[in-house]
Amino acid sequence: MTTYNISLLEGDGIGPELSECVYDVLECIHDKSTSLKFNISRVEAGDNAKLKYNKPLPDETFERIKNSQACLKSPVGESAADVVLVLRRYFDLYANIRPSKNYPNISSISKDVDLITVRENTEDLYLGWEFYADDDTVISLRKISRAASRRIAEHAFEIANSRKGKKVTIVHKSNVLRMSDRLFIDTSKEVAKRYPDIEFEEMYVDACAMELIRNPNRFDTILTTNLFGDIISDEAAQITGSIGLAPAANIGKDFGMFEPVHGAAFDIAGKNVANPTSFILALKMMFDWLGEKYRDSNLTSQSIKIEKAVDDLFSKNIKTIDIGGKLSTKEFNNKFISLLTDLGYD
Ligand code: ATP
Repeated sequence: MTTYNISLLEGDGIGPELSECVYDVLECIHDKSTSLKFNISRVEAGDNAKLKYNKPLPDETFERIKNSQACLKSPVGESAADVVLVLRRYFDLYANIRPSKNYPNISSISKDVDLITVRENTEDLYLGWEFYADDDTVISLRKISRAASRRIAEHAFEIANSRKGKKVTIVHKSNVLRMSDRLFIDTSKEVAKRYPDIEFEEMYVDACAMELIRNPNRFDTILTTNLFGDIISDEAAQITGSIGLAPAANIGKDFGMFEPVHGAAFDIAGKNVANPTSFILALKMMFDWLGEKYRDSNLTSQSIKIEKAVDDLFSKNIKTIDIGGKLSTKEFNNKFISLLTDLGYD
């Protein structure tokens, strides 16, 4: 039996409601499983924390996250950059992984989509290197390095290798960004040579935005830079029905942070209507990552059960309001937990 130290960051807007849901799921697994135990550290960060402690990422929160093996991060509001970018940088979370797939009975513009976006997470315009050249002109600098391009390309090809589609589409804008995106593509092509069984294609980001709507089934693994990945993965999430279903993983060599793709959604905060599926599927991604890292098949099999329970709920038309159902956040989560319990914890 292994005990895993997990930090759970509560965030803003719908963040606390979603955290509560995932906490209940983890607690239930902890109570009922004989093989999996969790030490859950609930931590505050974001706008609420800034009001309370004068810092969006309080020292104690940071320390407790550092002492955990993985972090479940719910959405943060206006201070997101002061929390997420700091954590991504500190833990060198270089790969942002965002799966998008169709689930049963979820109305969407796509059918049978199952793709994954692998986004470089440490460079590009996200370094925030901006300055006024004069009173009316701002210059923003974009960084793309060979080393960061190589490790994200390797990550993407490893993921593609484990999937049925066995295809990588590299998304870029090298006709405009002639040096930076050329470096990204050339480095990716070098990596591609080591994976002769994986199909490899290039696509401009504007064409990709269009193809995701016109023919999303052509994609399996999308490999791209930071800003393009941010935009393309939101689009990929929406075409399968709702952003409330989309999880993301931020992966480094020694640490992982798992979160919903969406933001704090202040318009529906506190109303008990948010869809917790995005965070439940982020929990699944955390189990996959921890399972592989610690070679723990109990985590991997629990991850499969989480996805099956989500699938079964939607098959039975048990859904939250945003995707055409009737259930509140809490009601849906309780149904999810009871289905997961039926599937068993060992
Ligand atoms: P950000 O700017 O950080 O992306 P945002 O609040 O502008 O955040 P999102 O939170 O990503 O945008 O979401 C846009 C809209 O989608 C929200 O206003 C909300 O109505 C809806 N939404 C987002 N997440 C959920 C969810 N889990 N369940 C139901 N609806 C959601």
